[in-house]
Amino acid sequence: MHALTVVPGQAGSLKLDQVEEPPGRGAVLVRTLAVGVCGTDRELIDGEYGEAPPGRRRLVLGHESLGRVLEAPAGSGLAAGDTVVGIVRHPDPVPCVNCALGEWDMCRNGQYTERGIKQLDGFAAQRFRSEPEFLVKVAPALGMAGVLLEPASVLAKAWEHIERIGTRARWAPRRVLVTGAGPVGLMGALFGVQRELEVHVYDRNRSGPKPALVRDLGARYHTKFPAIEFDIAIECTGAPAVIAQAVAASAPGGIVCLTGLGGTQHLASFDVASLNQALVMENRVVFGSVNANRRHYEAAASALARADPAWLDRIIARRAHLDRFEQAYVRGESDVKTVLLFEN
Ligand code: BGC
Repeated sequence: MHALTVVPGQAGSLKLDQVEEPPGRGAVLVRTLAVGVCGTDRELIDGEYGEAPPGRRRLVLGHESLGRVLEAPAGSGLAAGDTVVGIVRHPDPVPCVNCALGEWDMCRNGQYTERGIKQLDGFAAQRFRSEPEFLVKVAPALGMAGVLLEPASVLAKAWEHIERIGTRARWAPRRVLVTGAGPVGLMGALFGVQRELEVHVYDRNRSGPKPALVRDLGARYHTKFPAIEFDIAIECTGAPAVIAQAVAASAPGGIVCLTGLGGTQHLASFDVASLNQALVMENRVVFGSVNANRRHYEAAASALARADPAWLDRIIARRAHLDRFEQAYVRGESDVKTVLLFEN
C-alpha cells in the first residue's frame, strides 16, 4: 500500500513509498480518508524536526487524520463504518506521573511518542492500525471537516487550561484576542465565540479566505494589531514580535496562552524588567500549551459537532489527491488548511 514517508533530519526526503503493513499497532484497522497538512509536517519535510521509529530511517508522515473503521474487535466501542481520528501522542513507557494518568499532553520526561512526528509512524498511508483507546469518533455529518479534530483538540486543551487558571479568582472574561487566523487560530476563535465572548483575530493577510472566515464566525478581523486590552490572548503564530504584542495587550489579571511554534525565528528581544513588573503587579499569566489528551479530543469533537459544518468546510481551502502530494506541502501565501485526499 502507498504511504508518504520522510527521513527525519534530512531535508527533501519526502516520497510516496510502498509499505507492506498498515502503520501502527492495535486491533483496529482504519481506511484513511484524508490527512491534514500543518507546519509541523513542513518542518519534518525540511529536516528540522521529528524522529524515525527506533532502528528505522524512514517515518510515515501525517498526524492529522480522518479515517473509516474497517475492522474493530467486539467491545472496543468502535465498529466498521465509524468515522474516526487518531490521537497523536502516546504516553511515555516509564511512565511519568502525568502519562500514567492518561495526561500525556503534560508528559514530564519528554519520552512520549507522537504518530507521524516522533518515533511512531503516522497516518499518511492508505490504511493504518491503532488501539481503540487512541481513536476518537467524529460526527460523520462533518464530512472532510472531521480532519480538523486534531488541531481543534490542541485548542480545546488550551481553553481548558485558560479556564482553570482563570478560576484562581473571580473571573468574568469578556474580550479574547487570537493572533493568527490559520486553522489553529480559527479553532481558538470558534471556541471563544461558542463561549459567547467578544473575539478579535489578528492576522497579516488582507486577502484570501481568512477575513471572511473570521467575520462569518461573528468575530472581528484585524490586519493591524488592535489597540485594546484583552482578558485572554491565544497566540498562534509563534512569531516573537507578535508574542511580545500579545503579552503587552493583556489586561490586568489577563491570561496569555502561547500555542505557536515559530520554527527557526528567534529574533525579537524582550524587556524582562517590564514583563516582570506587569506580571507581578497585575497578576497576569503567560503560559505555553502543546498537544492534547483524550478528554480534549472529545471536547473538540463535541464543539465541532455544534459548529456550522459549512463554515468548517471552508477552512479546508485546498485539497490535493495523494498522487499530487507535492502540491499539498507547498506553502501558499493565503493558505488555511490543506488536506491530502486518499480516495478519489
Ligand atoms: C501537533 C501536536 C504535537 C506538536 C509537537 C503539533 O503540530 O499538533 O499534537 O504535540 O506538534 O510535536
